Amino acid sequence: MDTYDLLVVGSANADLVIGVDRRPAAGETVLGSDLAVHPGGKGANQAVAAARLGARTALLARVGDDAHGRLLLESLRAAGVGTAGVMTGGAPTGVALITVDPAGDNSIVVSPGANTRLTPGDVTDAGALLAAARVVSLQLEIPPATVAAAVRAARAAGTRVVLNPSPPAPLPAAVLAACDPLVANEHEARFLLRGHAAAAASEPEAWASALLERGPRSVVVTLGAGGALVAGRDGEALRVPSPPVEAVDTTGAGDAFTGALAWRLAAGDGLEEAVRFAVRVGAAAVTRAGAQESFPAAEEVPAP
Ligand code: ADP
Repeated sequence: MDTYDLLVVGSANADLVIGVDRRPAAGETVLGSDLAVHPGGKGANQAVAAARLGARTALLARVGDDAHGRLLLESLRAAGVGTAGVMTGGAPTGVALITVDPAGDNSIVVSPGANTRLTPGDVTDAGALLAAARVVSLQLEIPPATVAAAVRAARAAGTRVVLNPSPPAPLPAAVLAACDPLVANEHEARFLLRGHAAAAASEPEAWASALLERGPRSVVVTLGAGGALVAGRDGEALRVPSPPVEAVDTTGAGDAFTGALAWRLAAGDGLEEAVRFAVRVGAAAVTRAGAQESFPAAEEVPAP
């Protein structure tokens, strides 16, 4: 068995994008631009981001036995992601139907498809892959029971867990307790803190310390152009600024950030050092259009 820096357990979707002058109302048909099909899904995005930077990366995911599944496998392989853990069949590949209006506003319908068929049993079957990785990175576009099984297996194997709670959903205590770090943007942080006074605070430091009370070993809050905030159990939260860049398209910035962060942790960096690298990768990703297409190779990451 090869060893990996990073195993991503998560989703793979085909993003189907059509430009429209305006969104159709109920019962209405509008004509749009030519269809563009892009490889996406948070799991595949994170794996591609890390592999493109040079990480030995594998993905545990499920796609359909169809053209979208083949597109995803191709993009993963082209980036150098190990695909032995990408299973095929059981349902159509997950798709995101995206319409974009001239103001750049999106409307999105997601059909999770094969992503919902990634089971706890698949995680058990991939035990060797989990044990061969230094870090496992998770998001929430696969069934919650599968996320929980991957966390349990990672803990049993002594593998570090990085988790991005996106799309936001409640997390069981055992999952939260394993996160090192929990990586949340503002929206995700506020969701996890609903019912807590800190959810209404405007200071990310308040979200980070309230999130730590929920059990994770460490927390990273991403702040868009503001960079990120790092908070561990031992001491002050620290803001890490992002290099100033001209943002063209922020799609996938969080995935690029988290893939880069997980890789640097696997390579032995401390959390602060890994975040200092990840903000540079996130910043590079927003200077180009698209998600995976925008992720930088190591030599394209801006200097600190
Ligand atoms: P998400 O994409 O999950 O909403 P953020 O918007 O917080 O996450 O972005 C993730 C990371 O990408 C940030 O921490 C930052 O490093 C980088 N980033 C995002 N937007 C910008 C921007 N406008 N300028 C520079 N860096 C950015």
